[in-house]
Amino acid sequence: MGAVCFSEGKPNRARPGFLTEATANEGGFVLKGEKAFVLNADRASHLLVFAQLEASKGWEGLAAFVVEANADGVVIAPSVPTLGLNCVRSSSVHLNDVKVPADARVGGAGQDLTRAMLRFFAKEGLKTAARAVGLCQSALGTSLEYVSNRKAFGKPIGHFQAIAFTLADRSMDVDAARTLVWQAAARWDHHEAKPTSRSEKEALLASAFAISFALESAMKAGDCAVQLHGGAGFIRDYIVEKLMRDAKQLQVCFLTSEQADQIAATLELGLPLDPAVVLPTPETQSVFT
Ligand SMILES: Cc1cc2nc3c(=O)[nH]c(=O)nc-3n(C[C@H](O)[C@H](O)[C@H](O)COP(=O)(O)OP(=O)(O)OC[C@H]3O[C@@H](n4cnc5c(N)ncnc54)[C@H](O)[C@@H]3O)c2cc1C
Repeated sequence: MGAVCFSEGKPNRARPGFLTEATANEGGFVLKGEKAFVLNADRASHLLVFAQLEASKGWEGLAAFVVEANADGVVIAPSVPTLGLNCVRSSSVHLNDVKVPADARVGGAGQDLTRAMLRFFAKEGLKTAARAVGLCQSALGTSLEYVSNRKAFGKPIGHFQAIAFTLADRSMDVDAARTLVWQAAARWDHHEAKPTSRSEKEALLASAFAISFALESAMKAGDCAVQLHGGAGFIRDYIVEKLMRDAKQLQVCFLTSEQADQIAATLELGLPLDPAVVLPTPETQSVFT
């Protein structure tokens, strides 16, 4: 199993780029720094570590390395308790002067790597969006069953207009989110069959729409499902409280809906798409600390 070590707990205030550094040394590289929130770090055999190779180039000075999880200097911190998604664990990864050979470096350099990263964010984010569609569907199905069986004033509570309209809204969300995810996936298939900068832009834009909409829909679906279950929704006998907690994980675990919006707006405005769209710049770093 592999784990991706991208995020860092503390943003770099001095310049765009990571605090984790890679230094060329004896024909290979030495990695030093700390990565945060790494999913499955404690069970991975290999880590994909993003680090700053050339500080002066900002986000374009990044490099990626495959590191054996049991290499000297790699320390996986104990996993931290989380709000949801209890089936997996995330931990910090400390890299204490970890030596890797030259061929551990992957993914190119400069713009090639940053474009590849944006595609990676969009495609992985789309998988999160697909999970969000599943969560919406589950929340809706569970709610439909509950409001059909639970009665008040002699009729199922689903027959009251306030509840019926909520169900209608959440049904529309799930349908729209699923369609957006399929559309984005089709755009990537189209791009990969015949890659052009236009087809890449269309795939990135469709992914940003799908990610933003599906993640927001999942949170609404989880929240409404708990509400429609009343007090029962708050206790652990029913799945809906878990769905609500897991929905928040979807919203913050990878590309956030705000970052997806930012990608969509950048593409619509015709601005250059560089990783600073989703990664902090010196100007924004003070906002995020
Ligand atoms: C359970 C879990 C598992 C994770 N797994 C991994 C993993 O395996 N590997 C890994 O590397 N990371 C992992 N992460 C980290 C995850 O990718 C980040 O938490 C996520 O990308 C958000 O980054 P951040 O926490 O630095 O928040 P920040 O970037 O500090 O964002 C804080 C808030 O500001 C908003 N924001 C940020 N940038 C912008 C912008 N440009 N425009 C508008 N709003 C913005 C965000 O949407 C968010 O609401 C995981 C996180 C969690 C919770």
